[in-house]
This record gives sequence, C-alpha cells and structure tokens, in this order.
Amino acid sequence: MKDIHGRNIDYMRISITDRCNLRCKYCMPEGIDCVKRWEILSLEEIREIVACGASLGIRHIKITGGEPLVRKDCCHLVELLKSVSGIETVTITTNGVLLEPYLKPLLKAGIDGINISLDTLERNLYQEITGQDQLDQVLKAIRQAVDYGILVKVNAVAAKFREEKGSEAGNWRGLVELARRLPVHVRFIEMMPVGYGKSFQSTDPKMLLEEIRREYPGLKKDERMHGFGPAVYYRIPGFLGSIGVIRAMHGKFCGECNRVRLTSQGFLKGCLCYEDGVDLRALLRDGAEMPEQDKHYQWIKRENEAEIQRRLKEAMRRVIWEKPAAHCFERPERMTERRGMSAIGG
Ligand code: SAM
Ligand code: SF4
Repeated sequence: MKDIHGRNIDYMRISITDRCNLRCKYCMPEGIDCVKRWEILSLEEIREIVACGASLGIRHIKITGGEPLVRKDCCHLVELLKSVSGIETVTITTNGVLLEPYLKPLLKAGIDGINISLDTLERNLYQEITGQDQLDQVLKAIRQAVDYGILVKVNAVAAKFREEKGSEAGNWRGLVELARRLPVHVRFIEMMPVGYGKSFQSTDPKMLLEEIRREYPGLKKDERMHGFGPAVYYRIPGFLGSIGVIRAMHGKFCGECNRVRLTSQGFLKGCLCYEDGVDLRALLRDGAEMPEQDKHYQWIKRENEAEIQRRLKEAMRRVIWEKPAAHCFERPERMTERRGMSAIGG
C-alpha cells in the first residue's frame, strides 16, 4: 500500500533475534542484555504478521538480526514465509560465520538471495572490528554460496574503524578484488548514527568510489541494475561482480524508501531514526500468560481470532500510512530511537 507521502511500501525487514556470535564494535561491542526467549516473536507470530503485511502489499522480506543464523529454526522460517500468499522474495542478511552448513537447507527452503556483511578482507582489521578471527569461514561461505548459484551481496560498512590517521586507506581494495574474482555485488554502506554507530566517523562511500575509480578508470555506472533498495551499482571491465554504494547519510534517499521494520520483539516501525511504531506482539498475544522460564512462547489458537486479525491489520496499516517522511540523522538531537542496530535489524 502507499503511505501518506505516496511511497509504495512493499518491503519488510524482520529481526528474528537480538543475539549474535560476533561483537562488531559499531553494533554490539559488549554484547546485549539477553532478553528471554518468550520475548522474541515465535515463527508462527512472524508468519502471521507477514501474512497480514502481504494483504497490505508487502512483497519482499529480509530476515535479519542480531545474527539470524544463531536461531536454529531460521531455515524453517524461510520456508514458512515463502509459502505466504503474496510474498515474492525472502532474503537474509548474515555475518556469514555460521552460514556454510546452512546453505543447502536455505536453498531448499527457497531463499532468494543472501547478504553477507563483511567490512574488510584484512585479517587483523576483521578481528579488531568483530572481536573474532572468522574471516576464513566467511570467505568460504561466500565462495560456496556462489558455487550453489545463490545471489550474493557483500555489504561493507564504510567508516573509520581505527584511530591512527590513514591507517585504513585502501581497505576497499580486498573487497573490490572480491568482485573481480566472483559474481557478487560488493556494496559500501555509509555508517549511520544508530546505537554504537554514533561514535564512529562515517565515510561517504562516494569518496571511496572516487578512490576506486582512480585505480580502475574503467569503472562505469550500471544503469540497468536496480534492486528493491537504494544501492547505486557500478561495473569494472573484466570483473565478474559489481560495486555498489549506499549513501544513507550523504545521499538521503528517503523519498524512495519502501520499507518498514519489525524488531525481534515484535515492534513494527516506519523509520530507523524514530522510536514510533506499534507493539504487534502485545496485539497478537492479547494478554496471554507468558512462560516463567526461558522458553519460547507457545502459539495457542485464540477464541477472538477474527478480532485480533482485524486489530493487527489496522495497526500495520497505520504504521505504513504514517511512515515518517525522512530520517534526521544529520540532526541527531531530533532522533528518538534508542534501540541498537542489533534489535532493529540494520
Ligand atoms: N548479523 C547480521 C549481519 O551482520 O549481517 C544481521 C544484522 S546486522 C545489524 C545488519 C547490517 O547492519 C550489517 O551489515 C551491519 O554491518 C549493519 N550495521 C550495523 N550497525 C550499523 C550502522 N550504525 N550503520 C550502518 N550499518 C550498520
Ligand atoms: Fe552481530 Fe551483525 Fe551486529 Fe556484527 S553487525 S555484531 S554480526 S548483529
């Protein structure tokens, strides 16, 4: 459906857990306060929200987290969401560390594409950013995914990760080389001032692009490539893959934004920047009792099913309709969102 500003909202990002096996320093350097399992949406609840979203025009789903693959039922979720009438694509964003053994199950479940977050190919820097020495695992998963014919996008946050001046000049080289050897889309994404990201100096990916062009003068904009998102793509002659940039701050693309976001605890939001939204979990559980221990919430058939469905649809319609016109990252004092990126899903 269209929002109040006339944008067609057909994309929902869903964080399915706050937990993660890495400690990226711009995301959750000290880990998170672990929420209880029942506080996180169950697969059935996510399916129900997606089915309702589909009836309002949502067509594309991105599963994210925390790290979605720490949730053991992630592949089953993909299968469930692929079977929802109206949903055209289900993709996932992962740090890639646990990915390799899940590739076949994800394919079998019908996954339409995998985004793998990888900020550097330099071993020491990878470890400094993520807190772990897992670069080989991630690269292996990327190669294997490509071999299986999966559409792979590699997402690298563009920011200054180290204090020393000039210490990361050319960090993009290894990532760009990846696009030479493999048919993957390597995208540089501007750091946003959300959560710990606030304490980093972001780099305008356009500057990186200029550096890349100096080294690869054949770099040309690829007008044919349009995803569902804000990336602008470029080709370099002889490369199997492409280079993309997402200028979340300097190239404010809110006028074309097509997405809403569901947090792991079931809060539906219209924009990364603001806390506004609706607690869909409360609506769905409708005062039901929660387990005392750290157990998942058990789905129960409700007597007032039709009324809950009606309220759910109304609440989702409102969030979509009232989606804010634009973020205000350039005026941080106006931001109201206090959650970190791991809860919102990036
Ligand atoms: N764990 C998964 C992963 O890393 O892909 C999914 C969740 S993670 C929060 C999703 C994406 O958000 C990652 O690509 C991560 O680099 C990005 N991200 C986290 N904090 C960010 C920030 N402040 N600005 C821009 N991107 C950010
Ligand atoms: Fe985990 Fe992804 Fe956040 Fe890194 S960016 S800590 S991998 S959720």
